[in-house]
Amino acid sequence: MQTIPFVDLKTQYRNHELEIDAAIQRVIDNTSFILGQEVEAFEAEFADYCDANFAVGVASGTAALHLALLACGIEAGDEVITSPLTFAATAEAICHCGAIPIFVDIDPATYHMHPERIPEAITERTKAILPVHLYGQPVDMDPILQMAREHGLKVVEDAAQAHGAEYKQHRVGAIGDATCFSFYPGKNLGAYGDGGAVATDSEAIAERIRMLRNHGRKSKFDHLEVGFGERLDALQAAILRVKLRYLDEWNDSRIAHARRYCQLLRGTAAGLPETPPEVRHVYHLFVIRIQGRDDLRTQLKSQGISTGIHYPIPVHKLPAYHAQGLQDDSFPLAERAAEEIISLPMFPELEDAQIRYVTDHILRWMDAPRGA
Ligand SMILES: *Cc1c(COP(=O)(O)O)cnc(C)c1O
Repeated sequence: MQTIPFVDLKTQYRNHELEIDAAIQRVIDNTSFILGQEVEAFEAEFADYCDANFAVGVASGTAALHLALLACGIEAGDEVITSPLTFAATAEAICHCGAIPIFVDIDPATYHMHPERIPEAITERTKAILPVHLYGQPVDMDPILQMAREHGLKVVEDAAQAHGAEYKQHRVGAIGDATCFSFYPGKNLGAYGDGGAVATDSEAIAERIRMLRNHGRKSKFDHLEVGFGERLDALQAAILRVKLRYLDEWNDSRIAHARRYCQLLRGTAAGLPETPPEVRHVYHLFVIRIQGRDDLRTQLKSQGISTGIHYPIPVHKLPAYHAQGLQDDSFPLAERAAEEIISLPMFPELEDAQIRYVTDHILRWMDAPRGA
């Protein structure tokens, strides 16, 4: 029996051990642990990578969302439209501004909020739309940008899963008002701890986030507003500078693995990702849809294959958000998807024999006679 992990960060480290160790040592030798040259250099390199004018390093993807919303002027009582099928942090960041997440049901073809359902969610209190580039697939941004223009709304993107993704030849990071990235270790660009960044073309938004992340100050003691301690760590920045150089190569590998999975599973009962030609999906997760998902997961686990579910409970059904009475409506398409989705092993270093092992066991499970 093989053991196939869901992600494999050890192999990636071993492949780049010398460079990463040297980067860590450089920070220790300089003892410049907070902001400073490594963070500035990473910000410039990451902004360049995203084709954005600015990138500001922060403590996590959640901090990126929170501070980006604040910098876009989101205040208590405002409404922000987003997807119920996402990691809780998307809604959490909205709530941390005192604002209210307004969910829009998904399009089951993309798992993104359905663009045609957004207009009915817009009210006088709506201040922003927060699309989530879920699984690494860019949201269809043109209709969202159009609605935002018509109603004077900000567009803050959750790109925590979409480093290097592209929409109509534009890198995710240079599309809406502010784009939020997470460098949580397992993300396409992952640090060795927590980290995040906001990419933006707006100097005002970038400046405001620089202040907010650093206790609301511009220089050592002039605290101009009540801010936060949400800076990107210099050690993480140094590691991310090394890893950024391999991101395109790693994303290409993910795309090739996704193609192979699709080739091996096409024509079966598995619902496969549908990607329109104008996007570059970078497959942070490779998600298929199938009835009997929990049984399949158990079967794969017994064969040494780790899988995940992203996400088993839509945000509006989570106790924290449910209990606030924010919104008790039902989003049937998101709820149904949450019962049928399964994330298969996906990481750049995945080998073809491992992909075949996974798909062989999925096909075997499909063919096995099962009680009801
Ligand atoms: C990972 C993730 C976040 C939060 O990022 P952290 O760095 O863990 O705070 C937010 N949104 C989505 C969609 C994510 O996948």
